[in-house]
Amino acid sequence: MTNLQRGAPDFDPDEPSARVTESSNPEQFWVPGPIIIGAGPSGLAAAACLKDRGVPSLILEKDGCVVSSWKLRTYERLRLHLPKQFCELPLMPFPPNFPTYPTKQQFISYLESYVERFSINHLLGTRVRRAEYDPSIGFWRVSADGMEFICRWLVVATGENSEAVMPEIRGISDFGGRIRHTSCYKNGEEFRGERVLVVGCGNSGMEVCLDLCNNQAQVSMVVRDKLHILPREILGTSTFGISMWLLKWFRVEVVDSFLLLCSWLILGGTGRYGLRRPKIGPMQRKNESGKTPVLDIGTLTKIKSGQIKVVPAISHFTDKGVEYVDGKQEVFDSVILATGYKSNVPSWLKEGDFFNEKDGFPWTPFPNSWRGKNGLYATGFSRRGLLGSSVDAQRIAEDIASQWKATSKYTPLEL
Ligand SMILES: Cc1cc2nc3c(=O)[nH]c(=O)nc-3n(C[C@H](O)[C@H](O)[C@H](O)COP(=O)(O)OP(=O)(O)OC[C@H]3O[C@@H](n4cnc5c(N)ncnc54)[C@H](O)[C@@H]3O)c2cc1C
Repeated sequence: MTNLQRGAPDFDPDEPSARVTESSNPEQFWVPGPIIIGAGPSGLAAAACLKDRGVPSLILEKDGCVVSSWKLRTYERLRLHLPKQFCELPLMPFPPNFPTYPTKQQFISYLESYVERFSINHLLGTRVRRAEYDPSIGFWRVSADGMEFICRWLVVATGENSEAVMPEIRGISDFGGRIRHTSCYKNGEEFRGERVLVVGCGNSGMEVCLDLCNNQAQVSMVVRDKLHILPREILGTSTFGISMWLLKWFRVEVVDSFLLLCSWLILGGTGRYGLRRPKIGPMQRKNESGKTPVLDIGTLTKIKSGQIKVVPAISHFTDKGVEYVDGKQEVFDSVILATGYKSNVPSWLKEGDFFNEKDGFPWTPFPNSWRGKNGLYATGFSRRGLLGSSVDAQRIAEDIASQWKATSKYTPLEL
């Protein structure tokens, strides 16, 4: 495997055709195949599918390792939220001994083997600061830490979750305790015995509450909006898997009615615990707004028993805690912000046609969210998790490979 290091690219930099200019500042390189930005699961899947079709690619990754979102920005007890059959990348199944919901460590080791198996080329520690199509040469110019690359195809794989969302709540800087985003939360041990407020009730917020509770913290969870909470499994079968299967045959409204009935039978009503359901069903809501239903892994039981308290939205922070919108105040030692993530694409991609500059997602939803103009592609932005990334990777590889093959059948003329 050729793991590219800075200054030692896989293509020969002394080869005149590979180097646009010598010893200029920044150093400039021509990359014959596609450049993929981001070495997360989506970028790796794209690289592997390209390789499988005979197209070499180069991944540029800002962090010092591959799969950094999982290695550096997730909590220890994390397991895949969905069963493994929905999380495998193309061309390489999970090892047969993996459990239904692989642990974070197992998922990381699978991805590391994936990199090795497909000899994926990557330049680590290389943050892309700008990428722009240059119509005068018909190539993309990609600037990254003292280097400029030009390439014909650019694959954006920087993820839906590349930046933590920090909410602007009045008085937050006055709070004297600890404030931490879930991307920096590792485990509940360091919060043992503390009064902790978790702001946000998505899958991560719920799981962090459970972890804190299991570490004897006194946990309150802010629930501002309505949400769908579903059992992770129905009669031992994954709720997600059942939904996917039913959606092949039935309208989304029918599937939603079924899911809500099962949830009511298994979990009971959730409204009385402060978890009110939206009018629109869970799968339809996911399709329309990208809001994922929470798959319960035990947090609801703790809420029902009163070990986790559901509290209303925060009006403002005080030096010792918060005041809620209902005027009540409460003291906390620490606050965990489970307030989600956002795409960072608008900060570096200079292009307005394909990506929405406001939210950093492609304008066109799935299944058309993978291809833009002028050799621009996106993977991992379909709000469909790793399954969506796999579909994107295969479509992108097929599309680029057909262009690659069309040009490579010509013999270069020696001049
Ligand atoms: C806690 C959690 C659990 C999840 N569980 C599941 C699950 O069970 N099943 C499922 O299908 N999905 C799950 N997801 C959703 C999704 O599949 C994962 O977030 C997955 O990591 C997305 O892969 P990605 O490659 O698209 O993005 P990322 O993993 O975020 O990778 C993007 C990469 O791009 C790099 N990057 C960003 N900006 C730049 C730049 N400017 N220059 C160079 N590099 C850059 C980042 O450092 C990162 O390495 C989960 C998400 C979270 C947060």
